[in-house]
Amino acid sequence: MVAIDGPSGAGKSTVARRLATALGFGFLDTGAMYRAVTWHFLALGCAPAECAAEPDQGRARMAQALAAMRLELRDGRLLVDGRDVTAHLRTREVESQVSAVSALPFVRAAMRDLQREVARQGPVVAEGRDMGSVVFPRASWKVYLDAAPSERARRRCQDFAGQGRSVSEAVVLEEILVRDRLDSTRSDAPLRRAADAHYVDSTGLTTDAVVAQLLAIVRSGGPPSHPAGGPAAAPTVGGPS
Ligand code: C5P
Repeated sequence: MVAIDGPSGAGKSTVARRLATALGFGFLDTGAMYRAVTWHFLALGCAPAECAAEPDQGRARMAQALAAMRLELRDGRLLVDGRDVTAHLRTREVESQVSAVSALPFVRAAMRDLQREVARQGPVVAEGRDMGSVVFPRASWKVYLDAAPSERARRRCQDFAGQGRSVSEAVVLEEILVRDRLDSTRSDAPLRRAADAHYVDSTGLTTDAVVAQLLAIVRSGGPPSHPAGGPAAAPTVGGPS
């Protein structure tokens, strides 16, 4: 188990995917899981912003929707009730709601169970916000991947441009800072560098250079000394299995 955490736009997904390939490990993008749940709530009209007037009722609807939802990870794709939603996860609509959804303790508990179930199936590079600090505290290798906010905004703008969407860097920077603040101030599993995580600053570095640093960390760390993960859990979230 390699656990990679860090703020939005630090390049975790690209680097983690490349590292997983180099090591022959599986790859777990936990941000995509929270995005899939957010997409589902939006599709049902019960996402946090839509329920702002009646928060208690809104939370009850979200809890009900989550319990009935079947979230599956298959070959790097995210399936909600059998439908592949991967292409819908990086929209700005999802992005504007995902931090509020991921702050809900019942959502985090369900995702944690699913993430641990995935890790039980074999060696994995998992990336997110709480991999090393909460979900896999016994991970063999932990990395906190950071980058300067301006560089993170620039990278996200490039991602959006690749999707044919032109968004100003100033707007993206503002959105990134809001998400960072929400993700690091929530009470359940806030974004935090684990005490035993290697700190890697990717500002000004190419993806190749960051992957090389991470490979060096893994290769100098010796073989895994303990299993990752926590208690037994179901392979899918909610719904009939
Ligand atoms: O990494 P990504 O930008 O796809 O994550 C989207 C959102 O999902 C984050 O802003 C955060 O709110 C949430 N997240 C989380 N815990 C994780 C991974 C992502 O709360 N382990």
